[in-house]
Amino acid sequence: MGPPGAGKGTQGELLEQHLDAVRYSTGDMLREARRAGTELGSLAQTYMDAGELVPDEVVIGVVGEALAALSPDASVILDGFPRTIPQAEGLALILEAAGQRLDAVVNLVVPEEELVSRLSGRRVCSECGTLASSDGGADGTCAACGGDLIQRRDDRPETVRRRLAVYLEETAPVLEWYADSPVDLLEIDGTGSVVEIQERIRERLTA
Ligand code: AMP
Repeated sequence: MGPPGAGKGTQGELLEQHLDAVRYSTGDMLREARRAGTELGSLAQTYMDAGELVPDEVVIGVVGEALAALSPDASVILDGFPRTIPQAEGLALILEAAGQRLDAVVNLVVPEEELVSRLSGRRVCSECGTLASSDGGADGTCAACGGDLIQRRDDRPETVRRRLAVYLEETAPVLEWYADSPVDLLEIDGTGSVVEIQERIRERLTA
């Protein structure tokens, strides 16, 4: 978990490799649905472009389906989900029904000024969605596939402000929800280099 720009995707990818886990980023799944032009994609589009959250029942359905398709002993990283208390409750029900549990909630803590500057400078590949910040791309093309780098529509300044407000209203209370639950809530300093932050996460997860 963490506000927009906290590094959930970058850190989640590194952790995915380290733990040999499956990572589900709801943001990536929704963007892929948009690129593929599916019904889910067109439903999500208006919410995403406005910096609003896609309705809970839609996102819970997407995550529930993805989890149901996995083998029971798979390790899973959920990136950007849950983002509301109903989503946290929905996830708890899905896990309970499957006889599974959350090992930990990792929350990346980054000051707001830094989030705004990270998001306004961020570029992503228009073809494969890779983040330029984690894969070079200084020449304006994606290091992974050679596609053009663009600014995400929801990284524009007015949308960034709305996403941060939505985070405070809807997602910050989820942290309190987890703090009051038996699940381990790990607060991680999300400033510094990508490698330093990853080390902090790994240390806390194995502690
Ligand atoms: P992200 O890539 O995680 O920053 O997500 C980008 C956008 O996708 C968000 O601003 C929301 O519009 C939508 N989204 C991603 N995850 C969720 C979620 N768990 N619940 C609702 N909307 C989401």
